[in-house]
Amino acid sequence: MLDAEFFRRWLLLSADLIDRDAAHLTELDSAIGDADHGSNLQRGFTAVRTALEQESPATPGAVLMLAGRRLISTVGGASGPLYGTLLRRTGKELGESTEVSPGELGEALRAGVAAVAQLGGAKAGDKTMLDSLEPAVAALDDSSASFGAAREAAAKGTLATVPLVARKGRASYLGERSAGHEDPGAASSALIIAALADTSE
Ligand code: ADP
Ligand code: MG
Ligand code: MG
Repeated sequence: MLDAEFFRRWLLLSADLIDRDAAHLTELDSAIGDADHGSNLQRGFTAVRTALEQESPATPGAVLMLAGRRLISTVGGASGPLYGTLLRRTGKELGESTEVSPGELGEALRAGVAAVAQLGGAKAGDKTMLDSLEPAVAALDDSSASFGAAREAAAKGTLATVPLVARKGRASYLGERSAGHEDPGAASSALIIAALADTSE
């Protein structure tokens, strides 16, 4: 079973991985966007880290909702509301339970990813974070071993964005010229899913 402390560790590790890869994420965004994805997420996850140091939400759902609120309030740009929605919606699905099973987390994350798709109007193949998140959550089953499968699926989905033409977000302004570059949001999503798998190991 996964408790509030597990979720805290997941988000703190996500913040560490984003710090580590911020320059790379910004580099990806400089090719097909406005060169701020790494700094946007670094600012957001730094605020998440601070919030989790100051407050100790008692349930997994409350940890995710706190983090989602911080991302929405601190990340300018498309990715803030999208990641904020992912975490808030997933947290809401987990309800008031003090412990959740891997299967319950998988179901909640699927609802969170569906909320991201609804908010942004994107679908798999549009060269967005959904190209990493959708295969990741599809790989989740009742076992914590499936977090590792989700990590693989997200990494594969991220690489598969390279040849795609962007249909949503700033990269879509480039039309065909967006092809040949990895999507920054898919790459950051893969980091967050990797942090989940690492936390469970
Ligand atoms: P901005 O584009 O406002 O500068 P970021 O650079 O932080 O914001 O985030 C860009 C990423 O957000 C993209 O690489 C893409 O993955 C994701 N994104 C943008 N628009 C959408 C959307 N409508 N649906 C899903 N993801 C999106
Ligand atoms: Mg950007
Ligand atoms: Mg921007």
